[in-house]
Amino acid sequence: MKMERESPMQMGGGAHVLVFPYPVQGHICPMVEFSKRLASKGVRVTVVITTASAATESMKQLLAAQPNNSSFKIEVISDGSEHFQKSDFAQETAQEYQDRFRGATTKNLSNLITNIKNNKNDSDSDNSEDNNDDYPLKCIVYHSCMPWVLDIALQHGLDGAPIFTTSAAVTAIFHHFNEGVLKIPSKDDRTSTTTMLMPSMPVPLGINDLPSFLSDVDAYPTYLKLTMNQFSNIAQVKWIFYTNFEKLEEKVFKWMASQDWPVKTIGPTIPSSFLDKRLEDEKDYSLSLFKPDVETCMKWLDSKEAGSVVYVSFGSLANLTKEQMDEVAWGLNNNNYHFLWVIKESEKEKLPINFFEEISEKGLVVSWCSQLQVLAHKAVGCFVTHCGWNSILEALSLGVPMVAVPQWADQTTNAKFVVDVWKVGVRVKVNEKGKITKEELAMRVRQVMEKEMGMEFRKASLMWKELAKEAVDEGGSSDKNIEEFVAQLG
Ligand code: UDP
Repeated sequence: MKMERESPMQMGGGAHVLVFPYPVQGHICPMVEFSKRLASKGVRVTVVITTASAATESMKQLLAAQPNNSSFKIEVISDGSEHFQKSDFAQETAQEYQDRFRGATTKNLSNLITNIKNNKNDSDSDNSEDNNDDYPLKCIVYHSCMPWVLDIALQHGLDGAPIFTTSAAVTAIFHHFNEGVLKIPSKDDRTSTTTMLMPSMPVPLGINDLPSFLSDVDAYPTYLKLTMNQFSNIAQVKWIFYTNFEKLEEKVFKWMASQDWPVKTIGPTIPSSFLDKRLEDEKDYSLSLFKPDVETCMKWLDSKEAGSVVYVSFGSLANLTKEQMDEVAWGLNNNNYHFLWVIKESEKEKLPINFFEEISEKGLVVSWCSQLQVLAHKAVGCFVTHCGWNSILEALSLGVPMVAVPQWADQTTNAKFVVDVWKVGVRVKVNEKGKITKEELAMRVRQVMEKEMGMEFRKASLMWKELAKEAVDEGGSSDKNIEEFVAQLG
């Protein structure tokens, strides 16, 4: 990997930053992109990956292909799972997983820091002057769901800074809940028209627009606790990073500033080649847990007319029920548009038996694609998405309107913003049983794909695309924030 790197002197002193993502696709990718932006501004960055993710086939290949240079490095530390069989992972409860992960990584991250600090002359360095004395370790940027990393940083005399890979709105909602500002009506007191106003929100939210950990507080106790913990030591940090850009959530960021939160937007955190093109030419994220079938997808898309394909993905974590898979399958087939649908290998058995015969040439199903390349392809006219935050940022950055099919967590709030704040698409309504139907999905897709009806969504999407590029380009808000952070590391 070639990094355009200025000397530490040019940037006002060199520094070394550890970047520690939580080991899921949606956290690793944006944090690696941030790392590359930092490295391009003269900072030495070490990204810390944990053993279970490093052991995936796709990650092994990617790790082997990473250059071992001094400005951007990857270190693997143990998460305590080396001796696990597949069944051991499956048997662990969410809480047991959290405890094991935290216990092992606390020790091993601490050891890594000690080693870096003690290892004065870095043997991997490609430049004899380029040693650790010029780049003292200064800060750990950690995913916000691991606030305990701040304690490790402080014990070693380092700064710690959380990075949020959700929208700022979602963080603000949880914060309002934590502070008692947001009071959620009990299930008996709710109606479909109940709305809640919050000081940071640009629009009132209904119950179904809240993150699902709040609309049903009993459903995911471990995740709710994890989310609330994000605020446990937020008052002690010098920086709080967001993977989006200021203009996308102006009102929320203004509210955060009014509360003296030291927020820095540094995104959108997608490879530079899809936005400002100032860093090396990359066709995808450099670290991904899954291997994409790029050739099949690109060849198929190349054969389709501009704006004629519906791209469908529910991300790396969501699993639909068999019944919902049926509805999505027939909903897509009910329209006359081509579709490209990503279905994880483990989910394919849920497809209707005669599905492939029925769709014939109309659809292509793959286990994983390069979503960035797909969204950037001119054949794609809309994105049927589960509204994971990375998918939202990618669609906005690449100017693709959306059909929102949120599943859980922050996706419901993201869907609300897609429709009512950014105005780049529609949301599929669930029926009285909480399910989506094929008729509803097909109708929503038409609303975005049809020339006249979809015009406003396309216009708004192109506007956000421009603003996203402007933010990371030279002198843009995110670019300036990254430079300020680098200068403050000094
Ligand atoms: N993604 C991909 N190929 C696919 C489907 C998804 O590369 O076939 C990527 C997508 O670009 C995004 C990430 O996987 O960066 C999914 O993150 P998101 O936050 O949208 O959802 P999650 O998987 O965390 O639910």
